[in-house]
Amino acid sequence: MPSAPLLILNNDVQMPAIGLGVFQTPPEETTAAVATALKAGYRLVDTAASYGNEREVGEGIRQSGVDRSAVFIETKIWISDYGHAETLHGFEKSAGKLGVEQIDLLLLHQPLTVAFERTIDAYKALEQLLGDGKVRAIGVSNFMPERLAALLEQTEVVPAVNQIELHPYFSQPEARAADDEHGILNQAWSPIGGITSYRGEQATSTFNDPTIREIADRHGKTAAQVMLRWHLQHGRGAVPKSTRAERIEENFDVFDFELSESELVALDSLDKGVRGGPDPDAVTLEAFGRDIPEA
Ligand code: NDP
Repeated sequence: MPSAPLLILNNDVQMPAIGLGVFQTPPEETTAAVATALKAGYRLVDTAASYGNEREVGEGIRQSGVDRSAVFIETKIWISDYGHAETLHGFEKSAGKLGVEQIDLLLLHQPLTVAFERTIDAYKALEQLLGDGKVRAIGVSNFMPERLAALLEQTEVVPAVNQIELHPYFSQPEARAADDEHGILNQAWSPIGGITSYRGEQATSTFNDPTIREIADRHGKTAAQVMLRWHLQHGRGAVPKSTRAERIEENFDVFDFELSESELVALDSLDKGVRGGPDPDAVTLEAFGRDIPEA
């Protein structure tokens, strides 16, 4: 069975480079997707309180037969649960739904730019959870350089991970440079550019990009596999999402080929500088806040 290389976080915790993402995976399909992934060799699952499927992720892990201790569980606190006490309670809700005592990596899902002090209080709660051994590593998601600098100024523990939108059409050189400077590992969300195809414009999807397809043909691989290989060779983590068994397996069959330097450069040069997801600075409680149910 294939296994993903391990990335070493800034607190020496080891994290598999490839994991299964479950954003927009309906709860009723999540258990099967997670169990399928773990049986195929995946050892990381990326969920979030706001995805509404943490309970089913836990169920999928238990059904897979893979020991809990061998699986890296990553989840995220939603903005509605920011604040010190609220975030500590957010951890209890997530851990309760997942059915685990300890979470491997807990992230703040988004910075709340207009209520940044709540973001800071939330991060300090993550620091407390880390100190108490309730989580093995802490980090952030969608933090652009300015927000990251503000966070670093007001807190103690440097985030282990910044999970950001990252695919060949939006490769975020500035955010990556800022993260690199502080020893923060990047984990790509929408790593194969799913966000570019959700809009239904197939012509603008990374899956149909002629450069990516040409490289894929050269290696006898698919466009998705080439994009995941690109992340791996750049030393990043990636959490591709699929609910289909054959694609879950395809996305993990990426450890037996190597892209050349010129192929990496060709993929780097596809960046259009246009994000597919929401502008992280535009995420407000008014627009995006919602209740995260109790465990
Ligand atoms: P992905 O780049 O993973 O693309 C997923 C899409 O591509 C789905 O439509 C999937 O459809 C399809 N797909 C999957 N594998 C293949 C394949 N081999 N060939 C062709 N199509 C394929 O994008 P996502 O936006 O889903 O992001 C992945 C994960 O990143 C999320 O699940 C979540 O964990 C994380 N994320 C985090 C965010 C954040 O704010 N922190 C925001 C968004 C995502 P199908 O399921 O039908 O196979």
